[in-house]
Amino acid sequence: MAQDIHVALAGNPNCGKTTLFNRITGQNGYVGNWPGVTVEKKEARLSSDKSVVVTDLPGIYSLSPYSPEERVSRDYLMGGEPDVVVNVVDATNLERNLYLTLQVVETGLPVVVALNMADLVEKSGDKIDADKLSRRLGVPVVAISALKGSGVDELISLARREAAKKAEVPAHRFDSAIEDVLDKIEQLVPATVPTSKRRYWAVKLFERDASACESLGLSDAAAAKVEALVAACEKDCDDDAESIITGERYALIAHMMDECVKRAPQRMSTSEKIDRVVTNRILGLPIFFAVMFAVYYLAISTFGTAATDWVNDNLFGEGFELFGTAMPSVPDVVTSWLEAVGASAMVTSLVVDGVVAGVGAVLGFIPQMVVLFVLLSFLEDCGYMARVAFVMDRVFRRFGLSGKSFIPMLVSTGCGVPGVLATKTIENEKDRRMTVMTTTFIPCGAKLPIIALLMGALVGTSDATWIAPLFYFLGVVAVIVSGIMLKKTKLFAGRPTPFVMELPSYHFPSIRSWALHVWERVSAYIKKAFTIIFASTVVVWFLSNFGTATWAGGTGAFGFLPAMEGVPEEFTDYSVLAMLGGAVAWIFAPLGFDSWQATAMSVTGLVAKENVVATAAQLLHLADATEADPSLWTAFAGMFATTGGIMAFGAFNLLCAPCFAAMGTIRVQMNSAKWTAVALGYECGFAWVVGLMINQFYLAATGVFSVWTVVAVAFAALIVFQLVRPMPKGAWEDAPAVAAPAA
Ligand code: GDP
Ligand code: MG
Repeated sequence: MAQDIHVALAGNPNCGKTTLFNRITGQNGYVGNWPGVTVEKKEARLSSDKSVVVTDLPGIYSLSPYSPEERVSRDYLMGGEPDVVVNVVDATNLERNLYLTLQVVETGLPVVVALNMADLVEKSGDKIDADKLSRRLGVPVVAISALKGSGVDELISLARREAAKKAEVPAHRFDSAIEDVLDKIEQLVPATVPTSKRRYWAVKLFERDASACESLGLSDAAAAKVEALVAACEKDCDDDAESIITGERYALIAHMMDECVKRAPQRMSTSEKIDRVVTNRILGLPIFFAVMFAVYYLAISTFGTAATDWVNDNLFGEGFELFGTAMPSVPDVVTSWLEAVGASAMVTSLVVDGVVAGVGAVLGFIPQMVVLFVLLSFLEDCGYMARVAFVMDRVFRRFGLSGKSFIPMLVSTGCGVPGVLATKTIENEKDRRMTVMTTTFIPCGAKLPIIALLMGALVGTSDATWIAPLFYFLGVVAVIVSGIMLKKTKLFAGRPTPFVMELPSYHFPSIRSWALHVWERVSAYIKKAFTIIFASTVVVWFLSNFGTATWAGGTGAFGFLPAMEGVPEEFTDYSVLAMLGGAVAWIFAPLGFDSWQATAMSVTGLVAKENVVATAAQLLHLADATEADPSLWTAFAGMFATTGGIMAFGAFNLLCAPCFAAMGTIRVQMNSAKWTAVALGYECGFAWVVGLMINQFYLAATGVFSVWTVVAVAFAALIVFQLVRPMPKGAWEDAPAVAAPAA
């Protein structure tokens, strides 16, 4: 068999690499409308020819890496594996994208430049002369649309042709004075370096790239000679070496733009008109809040609820009518089937009160989940969310945070695991750690059932449908408040990470990728229901049905409680779970939920957030097995003494340490046990304090005071102090500024 051909896709973030990758390999990689979605390289074979291996690399602005994912890309390109690099270029942002193109061409690797988004360029009326640009760059250039598919076949055949060729010396030249110096440095590059790569290394040495001397194994004498040449040139140009090269690149690019691009007369595009409003300095933020309010309101308070209520009350509750025929509910069907096959009472209880109740409650929230993700995915795919990151950057920056921290949070609205992974794009380590710590405050899909349950419970007691969006904003506020507070501590002080992002024009999402996003998230939820939630319900069933008969007249024996002599209606109070929950319930007493049930829910929620609802349903199902089934909502509300307790329970469970999977991801990202502990400790502590304040202030408002009221006020004062006090002196100056990528 012929040798495999390796094609690497490289380009700026958000230029369409993954779209192209998916098109030519038939994969379903995540196409996001913001940078940093592809944080690891991904490999697949060409659909039309399995001997071609394509690698989708994380987006980069330059080959002088600043962030971990930029390093992934550079190391892969320079590692010798790719036979040809396809440099994907966002042709609507040609000038900026060419900066990386020049660097990629300089590597001496065979390169094909793909001018992507040709459809948008055409729409704008601009004309890019690909042939001229190709002559200038010395590599083939082809216009394509990864989205529509035009030009892609030609791109592939060009890439094959180039891969078969030998590497060549890059063609473009800087100013002759600089070229002279580069020539001299090239002479000093060890003879073992092939001709095609010599210029690349000469430029690296000129830029004083720290790792270059090392990788080349340059002798001290040669290194000193290089330094002398560079220093002399710096003196002549009155500028530092790195800026000289950057300047030369931009000069070349300006020249190429002049020669190869004909701009259509300027008129404001629809996208620009929309952006004037939604990214407006004053209106941007309120619009975002209004949009998110609408999303959560629609998903949880209206359509979604109707469907979910129906599922929970009828399908899993009392049965329902279909075309005038009475249909039994799922638990009834399962129960009668189990009785028919002669299952024991214990097995029936495990299946009906354990698994069906728990897993069923989780599945019952699917309608709300679908509505939520249809709306969120639309906002993401059409380009709005990218604007929000931009708007948020302006807000965050005032507090020393960066819009880069907002992107992981957007991703976290789906799931905290990719959210935490998305922090890789943040090059400043302190900012990255802080974002890892706070990003899971944003409610993920699995927290939606908790919000819905709380809302149902609260609506039972007060008429407040606006509660659902409120819990979402609680997450956003928690992130901002934490950010401001943490930035003022030694651990996290420092300049905000620079944030540069192309805003793609608005477009109606392709139905395929839209549906795919929704399906990806909903199917992950369903899969979890049948795996981890299923397993958890079995464990919770055991813990809540087994215990010691210590009630009046009880024998003191340990066993299956419902089958025991003289079992009281509230038998779960004697279970192992009640004992375990009761043992730690004191922690939550000041928060207004000291019942062992509420504690048990919070603890199982650490395994997976859906468990909060699954466990609630199980415990309620058991408790009410003998009565007519009240709805999940009112039964849940009945477990708390006050509305304050319900809200505090919600706040604690939404903000405390995330599920096991996300905790594991935090551990990987932090790459340190100490930092993982700091992150989880902070999350739990913060959640507890917020819960405390909610409950105590609620109680105070109803005229109930205790020593905890004082504690809550003290915490509130501390938070306010940390929020309003000025940035400690020297906090920013100490920290080195991170160089911005080519702007
Ligand atoms: P990556 O970050 O380089 O992997 O970029 P993605 O593949 O995730 O694409 C970023 C955005 O650009 C997505 O919203 C795509 O739908 C959009 N996009 C990609 N290629 C094209 C194209 O050829 N035309 C248009 N109009 N949009 C595109
Ligand atoms: Mg990508």
